[in-house]
Amino acid sequence: MTNPVVENVVIIGSGPAGFTAAIYAGRANLKPVVFEGFQKGGIPGGQLMTTTEVENFPGFPEGITGPKLMERMKLQAQRWGAELYMEDVQSVDLSQRPFVIRSEEREVKAHTVIIATGATAKRLGLSSEHQFWSRGVSACAICDGASPIFKGVALAVVGGGDTAAEEAVYLTKYGTHVHLLVRREEMRASKAMQDRVLKNPKITVHWNTETVDILGNEDRMEGIKVRNIKTGEETDLQVRGLFYAIGHTPNTQLFKGQLELDELGYIVTKPGSVETSVEGVYAVGDVQDHEFRQAITAAGTGCMGAMLAERWLSVNG
Ligand code: FAD
Repeated sequence: MTNPVVENVVIIGSGPAGFTAAIYAGRANLKPVVFEGFQKGGIPGGQLMTTTEVENFPGFPEGITGPKLMERMKLQAQRWGAELYMEDVQSVDLSQRPFVIRSEEREVKAHTVIIATGATAKRLGLSSEHQFWSRGVSACAICDGASPIFKGVALAVVGGGDTAAEEAVYLTKYGTHVHLLVRREEMRASKAMQDRVLKNPKITVHWNTETVDILGNEDRMEGIKVRNIKTGEETDLQVRGLFYAIGHTPNTQLFKGQLELDELGYIVTKPGSVETSVEGVYAVGDVQDHEFRQAITAAGTGCMGAMLAERWLSVNG
């Protein structure tokens, strides 16, 4: 179905960044169209749909579950007139104006596009991972580390980069001890971060080590099985939390060759802005941020995207 109307703004993604952009664009009377994602593109509502309590989003002193928070953002976007399609965008053409956005069901033309397709935290792919996800296993120490289930127990972090090092140090505030599991004989983290890890008496680094299984009963995880890659020796570690810090994959397949991406595949935005290499196209949230990756920063940049789109339309529309 091709709609001959040219929309003011199409927003791709329905996480905190996409819905915040929709709320601002809606309130600016731009009648935003939002592709929420569906299957291959991700989950409507984004990454927070996969978590339980969110304790650090301002305005919810008692905390709120991820799905509830996203439901409220969605209602707020709808209240201001956002039109939502629970569909994956399959292709975009940003080389001509108006821009063209296609899903399986429709083709939409738009003067401006806000990309909020997020990033996906990499997982190890262990068969037991699903069972303990959010019940001991997490992909975000900053988000989940303060949870009561991780206080006063031994924890483990998988990864050898700056994020893994930072998360290991961060988790020593809550755990009795932190095991950092590094696959190689050395860490990719900066020298300064490595020093902080190696000098910390609450952290043990396990070199050449991979995680092969998560152990536990129906209710919670009790430990992990690790293997030394060099010797093949397997050991059980009694940890009650396992944090993945093995990177994220930005959801930018659709934009390859059309927008400037960095070496990790994130959309490049102008410093201090969310403008991309194509005028009228904005990238907001985790799809352009490999540093902070939080709901509040995603929401903040979503707001910036909508305000810049409105500004662009008032000059060029
Ligand atoms: P996302 O939330 O990743 O949303 C991306 C959206 O894009 C989705 O709606 C998806 O469906 C859509 N999409 C992707 N491809 C397409 C396509 N082709 N077509 C249409 N739509 C598409 N942060 C906190 O601040 N506090 C926390 O407590 C917290 N806990 C977390 C717990 C977990 C387990 C995880 C994984 C993350 C957590 N985070 C937390 C991080 C937070 O979820 C992210 O920073 C935030 O969701 C990023 O928002 P976003 O809108 O940029 O992208």
